[in-house]
Amino acid sequence: MPAQDSLQRFLFEQGNIRGEHVVLAESYQKILSLYAYPEPIAKLLGQALCSVAMITAMLKFEGRISLQLQHGSAISLLFVEANHHGDLRGLVHFHPEASLDDFQDMVRGGVMSVNLMPEKGKQYQGVISLEKQDLASCLTQYFKQSEQLDTEFWLCTQNNAAAGLMLQKLPQEHPDPELWNELQILTQTVKPNEMIELSSEVLLKRLYAEHDLQLFEVKTPHFKCQCSNERALNSILMIPQKELTQLLKEQPTLESDCEFCRAHYQFTADEIYQALLDPDTNSDNSSNTTH
Ligand SMILES: [Zn+2]
Repeated sequence: MPAQDSLQRFLFEQGNIRGEHVVLAESYQKILSLYAYPEPIAKLLGQALCSVAMITAMLKFEGRISLQLQHGSAISLLFVEANHHGDLRGLVHFHPEASLDDFQDMVRGGVMSVNLMPEKGKQYQGVISLEKQDLASCLTQYFKQSEQLDTEFWLCTQNNAAAGLMLQKLPQEHPDPELWNELQILTQTVKPNEMIELSSEVLLKRLYAEHDLQLFEVKTPHFKCQCSNERALNSILMIPQKELTQLLKEQPTLESDCEFCRAHYQFTADEIYQALLDPDTNSDNSSNTTH
């Protein structure tokens, strides 16, 4: 069966351990189609997209969660974002001549963070240490140390699809330590093609055949950019007014391209001056810096 976008949450009721299985196929392929990424970069981008989709579902969160890596030896920027609707987007900037042999080659010297941006309430940023040999191990270590929450990630990519599995001890629920160890050992046996090609139901029932498993409703993550005409216009309005006036003297329209989906926005001088005069358009542009 060809891989399909899906996200399945599950629970081992008796052990107070929960988990998630995510597969990104069409959504991942759309994101890859926008730029010519070398294979190691495309694979890491797929793993990062799976991670952010699972973290968003794990927190049952209303708002956006992003994972970003900056200033790595090969990757100058990796940015992936998900929200509670299952919308996903992401991109990578990289140095074309840099070595891409392994994870450390790509990220060395970089800073990775997870950013929680709830619709209501305070934003939160956590810094993820990049010492481990792959992204899954870095995230596992982050949750253990910073969130004090035993969480284990498995991530893989194959044939333009990406998949992830996550297990987590339920906080304050006395999870069964023996079951936790057993589930970790079982999950380590999973092969990338099984994680990507099998439906969650088949995979999980096969993998954890001996255990009672509760499956929740399957969700469908998808590629959807958050850019809009309004956000693109707001980003133009953030140019200092003197500079903006000068630019409009030199050219009849100003353009803005969204890097995430390559949508093209174009505004005439009239539209821009109109927006500058309208207090509603320009009142909240501080929150729209990521258009
Ligand atoms: Zn866009």
